[in-house]
Amino acid sequence: MTARILAAAPVVEQIKKDLIQRCESLKQQGHTPSMCVVLVGNNPASMSYIRNKKKMCEEIGAQFRLEHLDETISADEFLKKMETLNNDPSINGIIIQLPVSDELKNLALPNLVKPSKDIDGFHGMNTQNLYLGSTDLSLLLPCTPKGIVNLLKFYQVELKGKNVVVVGRSLIVGKPLSMLLSNFDATVTMAHSQTKNLRDLTRQADIVISAIGKAHFFDRSYFAPEKHTIVVDVGMNSLGGKLTGDVDQHDVMDVVRAITPVPGGVGPMTVVSLIQNLISATENQLKG
Ligand code: NDP
Repeated sequence: MTARILAAAPVVEQIKKDLIQRCESLKQQGHTPSMCVVLVGNNPASMSYIRNKKKMCEEIGAQFRLEHLDETISADEFLKKMETLNNDPSINGIIIQLPVSDELKNLALPNLVKPSKDIDGFHGMNTQNLYLGSTDLSLLLPCTPKGIVNLLKFYQVELKGKNVVVVGRSLIVGKPLSMLLSNFDATVTMAHSQTKNLRDLTRQADIVISAIGKAHFFDRSYFAPEKHTIVVDVGMNSLGGKLTGDVDQHDVMDVVRAITPVPGGVGPMTVVSLIQNLISATENQLKG
């Protein structure tokens, strides 16, 4: 058995076609969708993520704007800036690129972008859709979970009744993803750094999704060949200067059924989900 590679490219291609059409139709109504990324300081990884977001935004015909703020900005000034952006009718979607400076870290960041422009899907008003059991992927849902479910759907991976182990419980990946998968009738175990016997859990799972941020943490010992596990690797780590996932893909290739690559898997799905949210947000704003 050699694992099937669940690449993002064909999924992104399909989603982009739809987004280009919807963007064009908004433009014909006189509204070019416009997103604004708020960046504080000069984190090199953030700069690289922003480049990818800008590229896809422009590829579908939407506008991109970077609000680059100095690392020394005070909390008060930052809040004022957010209010100005929230009230600016020429901006349809806003994201605050993480991480921010220590000074701003303790602000309730997820709720600083108003819900209708919250294309990261982090505001409580948007995440509550997950708690309420929604499976509507056109809502402003957190981008990585939305992208993962869209990728699994494209490759016709059944979720209903499947045992899924999500490793990681962060606010941006593990928690919302666990909730979304449960809404799609998966039986979800959310594991974390204090979980005992993680290997026993992953060896019994139909689907393992790793979002821990540790390069090549998962080797073949974490998977039972007879389970034909599907592996989704969210991790984006640097190993010897190369972008690499949480899973040692080379080592597990002959013991799992399918795996998402890094790069070229969850990363591009996250970016395209953000642009999906931008187009949906713009359409909703026009409807009033
Ligand atoms: P966080 O650091 O916020 O969370 C990591 C989670 O992993 C925590 O819940 C932590 O547990 C858990 N964890 C850490 N070590 C272990 C371990 N040894 N065993 C089990 N669980 C462990 O990270 P994020 O969720 O923000 O990101 C995770 C990874 O995904 C990173 O590599 C990040 O770069 C990547 N990422 C990729 C995206 C993409 O588009 N591809 C998007 C977002 C993130 P505890 O809660 O107990 O500390």
